[in-house]
Amino acid sequence: MAAEIRAELSAEVKALTASGVQPGLAVVLVGHNPASEVYVRGKVKSCEELGIYSEKHTPPETATTEELLAVVEDLNRRDEIDGILVQLPLPAQVDAKKVLLAVDPAKDVDGFHPMNVGYLSTQRPGLVPCTPAGVIEILKRSRIAIAGQEAVVVGRSDIVGKPVAMLLLNSNATVTVCHSKTRDLPGVCRRADILVAAIGRAGMVTRDYVKPGATVIDVGINKVTDWAEFERYFAGNKKREETFLAKGSTLVGDVHPEVGEIAGAITPVPGGVGPLTIAMLMANTVKAARMRRGARVVELAR
Ligand code: NDP
Repeated sequence: MAAEIRAELSAEVKALTASGVQPGLAVVLVGHNPASEVYVRGKVKSCEELGIYSEKHTPPETATTEELLAVVEDLNRRDEIDGILVQLPLPAQVDAKKVLLAVDPAKDVDGFHPMNVGYLSTQRPGLVPCTPAGVIEILKRSRIAIAGQEAVVVGRSDIVGKPVAMLLLNSNATVTVCHSKTRDLPGVCRRADILVAAIGRAGMVTRDYVKPGATVIDVGINKVTDWAEFERYFAGNKKREETFLAKGSTLVGDVHPEVGEIAGAITPVPGGVGPLTIAMLMANTVKAARMRRGARVVELAR
């Protein structure tokens, strides 16, 4: 699906560039967080493949809030930059909320600005957070009905849980949002026709959380380095075993792999929601390029 979206975007970028508007993305990566560096490399590479202009700003680990505000304000002013992405997490001395609030909402390709959050909750055109947008894209492209379905989202973060819930609601699902204080979590989850797990706890959603036949979207990305824990999820899985032995770790979602035996459809980890997230970032950059110029927003094929 990510490849399909990239192919669609590539044609769109070509057409836009031919008309004199090459979409541009600026990524701000503060310090040397190894995971962030991997993510940013992936984003820049994806831009290159699609013909989107990209640039990387790398302030030092010691950067202050004021210094980052100056970087963001400069990017806000530059017309050739359509999207600004401040890679999280930011160092502890930085007021992350203040920096994110400074990003021009029209260039906020992460969709985290309160203005875009408001657009989403009032169903106005705006920029939607990438991972939640990817979740909906997976459902729509798989032709899984959303309207009228019971959807349960586990997790209520501003980055994943809440916007996923809002998007499902906007697509007319009946939505329940769960969190760490929810009573009888397995029982609530078992009501779901569509279950979205965005918790950050390896393999927490087991078979007893899932109604047979339900669609399960696993957003979680958790690293497993302990063999005993590995065996809890992947005992007998030769391919996984090879990866684990070669790398000393493997990734597991928030959903236990045993759920695959009863779910109607399920996304894998890795290779499920993750690749869609980056594709949706590219889609947001193209969308921002159009919206900033008052052009009609061309939605991706649905
Ligand atoms: P957060 O830590 O911000 O939020 C986790 C949520 O899960 C919270 O709402 C928390 O509840 C809830 N939660 C935690 N423990 C439990 C529990 N035992 N029972 C019920 N609810 C619980 O995480 P994010 O939303 O940022 O990320 C979630 C997962 O998604 C992570 O694994 C992250 O790595 C992954 N992720 C993947 C992306 C991708 O591209 N595939 C992108 C972004 C994130 P409460 O609010 O009560 O504390």
